Amino acid sequence: MADADTNTELQAKLEAAQAEIEALRAELEETNRGVLALYAELDTQADHLRQATELKSRFLAYMSHEFRTPIGAIRSIARLLMDRVDGPLTEEQERQVAFIQRNAAEFADMVDDLLDLAKVEAGRVEISVEWFEMVDLFSALRGMFKPVLTNPEVTLVFEEVPADIPRLFTDDRKLSQILRNFVSNALKFTPRGEVRVSTQRVGDGLIRFSVADTGIGIAPEFHETIFNDFTQVASPLQKRLTGTGLGLSLSKRLAHLLGGSVALESELGKGSTFSVTIPVELKADAT
Ligand code: ADP
Repeated sequence: MADADTNTELQAKLEAAQAEIEALRAELEETNRGVLALYAELDTQADHLRQATELKSRFLAYMSHEFRTPIGAIRSIARLLMDRVDGPLTEEQERQVAFIQRNAAEFADMVDDLLDLAKVEAGRVEISVEWFEMVDLFSALRGMFKPVLTNPEVTLVFEEVPADIPRLFTDDRKLSQILRNFVSNALKFTPRGEVRVSTQRVGDGLIRFSVADTGIGIAPEFHETIFNDFTQVASPLQKRLTGTGLGLSLSKRLAHLLGGSVALESELGKGSTFSVTIPVELKADAT
């Protein structure tokens, strides 16, 4: 009798435990379904985000591409007018055409920068690496800037490339684009003094290019944001200059593509040093 009681009791406990397990299993299944639904939702959101980014890049690429033709036409016509192909211009007309030319050139620069940015964002920039000598890169840059050195109070100095700087294995055109941007900014924001381009080895397998100027400098609060899209620092000089505010953000992205980074040191009123540090040899998986 006592045995039968114990059996029934055990049986009851077992059933209760089984019911509890069943309930837990049901709960677990429900949680699992919830997690799966959340994952699916997350996937959809990620998809939307990817599509939105893709759409933005495509829009930028199309827009900047389509803008090139009309801008080109405006610039050609302005040049014809300036060359007096259709007769003389009054002084006032010449001023106005010059104004059109300046603005169209600025517009064209902005479109080019936007197109480059869109390409980088869409991952459509081809990196083409090859071995090249630093001296060749510097002499090409020197040649490029010679015609635009119009301020007699500023000298552009390319320091001698140190002997321990080996040949580089990277995309020389991307590197040149970054340096061109640093140098043309430095020339724009340096009313007098010098702009000095130098190279040094830093750390293991890295090389740093610095463009130091004795210009107006940049206040500390802008040191981080200056590399973001469309950032420009208000100054009396800025008002008289053209620019898009895209050059530095493009430089930063290009430096990343080359497996490196950009940096700024600057003191207001004293000058700025923009630098880019990249691996001497770009490995295939660095980007
Ligand atoms: P842009 O020169 O077309 O305006 P950038 O992205 O190249 O665009 O530069 C952004 C801003 O950073 C400039 O407008 C200027 O305010 C500031 N800047 C860049 N380089 C210098 C420099 N060497 N000295 C002082 N300010 C600079």
